[in-house]
Amino acid sequence: MTPSTDRNQTLFDRAKALIPGGVNSPVRAFRAVGGTPAFVQRAQGAYFWDANGKRHIDYIGSWGPMILGHGHPAVLEAVQKAAMDGFSFGAPTEREIELAEEIVKHLPSVEMIRLVSSGTEAAMSTIRLARGATGRNMIIKFEGCYHGHADALLVKAGSGLATFGHPTSAGVPADVVQHTLVLEYNNIQQLEEAFATQGKDIACLMIEPIAGNMNFVRASLPFMKRCRELCTQHGALLVFDEVMTGFRVALGSAQSVYGAAIPGFKPDLTVLGKVIGGGMPLAAFGGPRAIMEQLSPVGPVYQAGTLSGNPVATACGLATLKEISKPRFFHELSARTKSLVDGLKGAADAEGVPFAADHEGGMFGFFLLEALPANYTQVMKSEAPKFAKLFHGLLDRGVYIAPALYEAGFVSAAHTEGDIAQTVEAARAVFKTLKA
Ligand SMILES: *Cc1c(COP(=O)(O)O)cnc(C)c1O
Repeated sequence: MTPSTDRNQTLFDRAKALIPGGVNSPVRAFRAVGGTPAFVQRAQGAYFWDANGKRHIDYIGSWGPMILGHGHPAVLEAVQKAAMDGFSFGAPTEREIELAEEIVKHLPSVEMIRLVSSGTEAAMSTIRLARGATGRNMIIKFEGCYHGHADALLVKAGSGLATFGHPTSAGVPADVVQHTLVLEYNNIQQLEEAFATQGKDIACLMIEPIAGNMNFVRASLPFMKRCRELCTQHGALLVFDEVMTGFRVALGSAQSVYGAAIPGFKPDLTVLGKVIGGGMPLAAFGGPRAIMEQLSPVGPVYQAGTLSGNPVATACGLATLKEISKPRFFHELSARTKSLVDGLKGAADAEGVPFAADHEGGMFGFFLLEALPANYTQVMKSEAPKFAKLFHGLLDRGVYIAPALYEAGFVSAAHTEGDIAQTVEAARAVFKTLKA
């Protein structure tokens, strides 16, 4: 047998011998859509090239961080300069303050912030802080929202209302998730019942305001308003997990979108990641001074990290935030995203393929369904084989979207109208093959 000329396949085989499933994070393995993952050789602007040298228009952008596209000159320069001055010190640096100032400037709900290295770490630490600050144990999360892979957050709904969740992963003891209540997204009645029965024990309600881990599903305004009211009324903290939406859907993040629609609206705590690191391992959580000063070394809630506030990562994040703060950045990014979504919708309609889509800033989602879903159960009504066909059709044509129907998509400032037009034409060709 002649050796494979597909270098992606060769690398995947080599990887599988050493790394479980051949990947260092599960969704990269293409399990949901089948086939061989593209191994990335390099990337520039809106494109990456795989191990076969094939160019792809990239709508994942490292799952959100690459909002400027790959290899933005100002970011590259900042990272190179920072690297020359040292990789890590385990001692404070001025740039950590600059990044904190830059983040706080755009988020009125955040007075103080702590930098960490991953969204998982930030969400896990936020839960500990919320429990420490309130002296309560219980947390609410919603089905279909992802907050990283800390034990207490790997939970699915039990049967029926107000039952405690079940672990979604082996290795998570049932005792660890017994304090996690899992509710249906956008279900006001369930939310009210949960607070009515357990309100005095709830430390926090954690939510992705625009959920990007069940494709793209917005919390409705009445639902979000009720989340805020019930948390306030019962002394629980409202935690926005904006690891994905933060500095991605707007400069003021998703909280500014809800703040514009609901007078006086603010979350108590905010979890950040992805864009604030610009592609480097960096995340954060923040909120009012009185809560944040519960953290060690000032307060009793322990939290620490050897690489937290890493000097190269902070340089990358800071340079990224400076670029996206420029006038009209989000205006133009939103227009680009809208043009993609409208183009795809037009092509699907013309070919008679059911298609519903939504977008905010540089984030979008679409479903091969007649109407937008409001919760996880409705998202899962999507036909997986149809999605897999669309995914591979696009991949063949050099368009790279998330390899699973429950993931959001991302447009960067580097995507041109030409890229969008090419994407829409590719989608049109695939939609023709999707008609039943
Ligand atoms: C990506 C993500 C996380 C986890 O962040 P990691 O850096 O992958 O640990 C948490 N919450 C949300 C909403 C995310 O999208």
